[in-house]
Amino acid sequence: MIFVAKSELPSIAVVGAGLTGLTAAHRLHTAGRRVRLFEASGRVGGVIQTERAEGWLVEAGPNSLRGGLPELTRLIAELGLTGTVVTAEPAAKNRYLVHRGQLVAAPGSPQALLSSPLLSFGTKARLAAELLRRPQPRAADLSLAAFAREHFGSELVERALDPFVSGVFAGDAEKLSARHAFPVIWEMEQKHGSLLRAQAAAARERRAEGRPPSQIFSFADGLASLPRALSAALPTGCVELNAAITRLTPTGSGSTPGWQLTWTNPAGVAQTDEFARVILALPAPALVKLAIGADAAARPLSTLVEMEHASVASLYLGFRRDQVAHPLDGFGLLIPSAEKRAVLGVIFSSTLFAGRAPEGHVALTVMTGGTRRPDLAALAPDALLAAVQSDLAMLLGVRGEPMFLRHHAWQRAIPQYNLGHERFLGAITRCETDHPGLFIGGQARDGIGLPDCAAAGLRLADKALAG
Ligand SMILES: Cc1cc2nc3c(=O)[nH]c(=O)nc-3n(C[C@H](O)[C@H](O)[C@H](O)COP(=O)(O)OP(=O)(O)OC[C@H]3O[C@@H](n4cnc5c(N)ncnc54)[C@H](O)[C@@H]3O)c2cc1C
Repeated sequence: MIFVAKSELPSIAVVGAGLTGLTAAHRLHTAGRRVRLFEASGRVGGVIQTERAEGWLVEAGPNSLRGGLPELTRLIAELGLTGTVVTAEPAAKNRYLVHRGQLVAAPGSPQALLSSPLLSFGTKARLAAELLRRPQPRAADLSLAAFAREHFGSELVERALDPFVSGVFAGDAEKLSARHAFPVIWEMEQKHGSLLRAQAAAARERRAEGRPPSQIFSFADGLASLPRALSAALPTGCVELNAAITRLTPTGSGSTPGWQLTWTNPAGVAQTDEFARVILALPAPALVKLAIGADAAARPLSTLVEMEHASVASLYLGFRRDQVAHPLDGFGLLIPSAEKRAVLGVIFSSTLFAGRAPEGHVALTVMTGGTRRPDLAALAPDALLAAVQSDLAMLLGVRGEPMFLRHHAWQRAIPQYNLGHERFLGAITRCETDHPGLFIGGQARDGIGLPDCAAAGLRLADKALAG
């Protein structure tokens, strides 16, 4: 009998070095498999990008992570990052919504909903009635807005759900699928009927198990610490930057799948290499373009081109403290579409995590665009600043020009799990079934939050190890 050391087993390719791909590559490496990680750009991390400049800490893409996923906590510990974790400041527990041009505290619990000036007496009475709902099977998916209207009425949808959805998906609650965009809430309804009772039951269960409430966190040097540490933990030569994979050609047969990957190196020369399995950790717009199969013209994932994506632009603005009248005592604010403002939301970045602005200064991250105002995501920085200044003055009492500014635009960056999303999931599943040894996941399929992507990376790696 011939024993093969694990590291001599044929290697596995991971395509895409965002959080999904990096997590998958790390898992494969720690399981003793040879792995090669291909990344089209010149850096790892995907949309996670942190910059430190002139005493400011700027997050270009995602700003924070929600804790509560044990695998992610373990991964952070394995990478030696636990000591660098920073949790949201206590003040960031407050969140604001805009209602009739004014900031109103966002209700953070069912009790707070009952006393909130955001909701009329009629809506509050509906909340009490919602507690009596019993589980009932649903034959079909429905929009998130329709789902929430059934439970709480249209006022709550307009004033609270709509801005919340902007904050997560930069999308439209009337189009997003309740089942796919928020599967946890969908399942809560299936089990409990009432969402308010479900939430109370989840809190009771957490307390009984001695689990603390999940916290918002980042790292002392920003979110990019995570991809940097994941990449540094991989063996030398494992990460191939500036390598956009264009083609996957099957080379195996029967029960022994194999793949040849083609990419073009920075000198413009086409390169190939062979792998036992391939993990595609790519967003839908990248999956669409891949030639997969013996036929170079085959684009089995081309249908994903129809998956709507939100484009967003952010302005990171630094001010002297005396330029902003509002105490900025919170995570930030979100604005319902009914308010017809240019801004989707503002993160009070220097309140959220300590040490993110020079002494005596504050930082705001202003989010714009989304499916609501895609035109704003295409504006040049000066024009965008001009477009948001009156909102900032009115809502936060911001005066004068920012003394520090960074602009980031993300085109087609956030997938919308709209009604009918199952047809895209079906196309991905079919592609995997038709192509043994190919595993696909990440934000197009597994959820858009960073913990979802980390969990997807681990799952993909486990499937590739098993399959
Ligand atoms: C502006 C913005 C703000 C967000 N805010 C938050 C937040 O605060 N909290 C949160 O939890 N989530 C947030 N998200 C969502 C979250 O950041 C993403 O869903 C997640 O980072 C996606 O990770 P990924 O690895 O799946 O994809 P990506 O990060 O997109 O990585 C994919 C990688 O694949 C590479 N690639 C593409 N094509 C090829 C190819 N052909 N060959 C090789 N490589 C290729 C790309 O260059 C990229 O590096 C935000 C997203 C955006 C855009």
